[in-house]
Amino acid sequence: MPTYSHSKLACFENCPRSYFYRYIEKPEVEKVESIEAFLGCRVHEALEKLYRDVKMQKEVSESDLIAYYNERWLKNWHENVTVVNPSYSAENYRKVGEKCLRDCYKRYAPFNDAVTLCLEERVSFYLNGEGNYRMQGYIDRLARREDGTFEIHDYKTSLGRLPMQENLDADRQLALYEIGVHNRFEDAEPENTELVWHYLAFDTEFRRKRSRQQLEQLKKETIELIKTIEKAEEEQNFPAKESKLCMWCEYQRVCPMQKHIFETSQLKANEYLKEEGVTLVNKFVQLREQAREIEIELEKVKEALFEYAKRKGVEIIQGSDYKARVKITRRVKLPKKSDPERKDLEELVKENNLWEKVSDLNTNALLKLLENGALPEGVAEQIREFERLEEEKRIYLSKVKEMFE
Ligand code: SF4
Repeated sequence: MPTYSHSKLACFENCPRSYFYRYIEKPEVEKVESIEAFLGCRVHEALEKLYRDVKMQKEVSESDLIAYYNERWLKNWHENVTVVNPSYSAENYRKVGEKCLRDCYKRYAPFNDAVTLCLEERVSFYLNGEGNYRMQGYIDRLARREDGTFEIHDYKTSLGRLPMQENLDADRQLALYEIGVHNRFEDAEPENTELVWHYLAFDTEFRRKRSRQQLEQLKKETIELIKTIEKAEEEQNFPAKESKLCMWCEYQRVCPMQKHIFETSQLKANEYLKEEGVTLVNKFVQLREQAREIEIELEKVKEALFEYAKRKGVEIIQGSDYKARVKITRRVKLPKKSDPERKDLEELVKENNLWEKVSDLNTNALLKLLENGALPEGVAEQIREFERLEEEKRIYLSKVKEMFE
């Protein structure tokens, strides 16, 4: 039976195709690690070490913490760490990690606000009582305050922006961990469990509680999501969902959405412009531009022909090889769906029980009723107020025949 985690579910939600690659097909791709993920790991390691040392009654200074972080940074650095944003270097990110840790140290030292129960701890549980829908996750830090309150801590190093109130209230990850904690500790209840998010890059902490009802609702929603994933697996339906996350996706070189972009990004400038796909797209864009210009020009010439025909009082205009028959007819029309008077007309039609007769207001059907005198005179008069005359203009071309052909 498969086990799910918040990140596995989020992977499917973000892009079903990447879920397919990561958890089902597992294609051989060069392992890359984004600088953001690398930074997150190093900061997590440093905080884990810090709280372990505190637990062991070992004093840790701010400089010890930073030294450990930098040591781990150097030791783990590898050439496949990718920096997507060209405005920043790996060194910028390393400094961000340092700042996160310094701020955290200043804010929480001497780290005795609660007793740490476990660090980077795995929790697993079933979402329903029947042994189905198994979930697991790793809690960054689980602590208990003197008053018995459990705290589930999560350390974020994301640089984007702080979450909105509603994002925290809807956050699934820590709430799922809470279900795991309630399973593990008999005295843990929704009433005495707090979820704590540390947005380290912003030196900001958020705390929330979940009610019993909210946790039950979360279980239901998560089961529904798992059922959707199982259905996708049955139908082998994992559409690619392009988003800015593609920039960090390790499956770019196999995914149909990004494969060509990835391949061409590896080409030198002179090779790139000769590549078949690039050439075809460029040609297509160029022709479409020309077609648009021609379309505009064509409309202008048509208008000029109508104007010429009216001015000269002619219907056929002779060209060199073709002649143009210009036809202008005037027709009675009623307001279209996009016209502002349409709503009033619809109300009038409904009030007079004509809606069905004119198939949800087919204006041609309504005009036909008018023409055939099939409407009571008072109603016909009111509808006629909506009428307007519109010109329909057409041009028919035909080849000019030689006189004695
Ligand atoms: S490159 Fe983008 S669309 Fe393709 S699998 Fe990755 S996230 Fe999905």
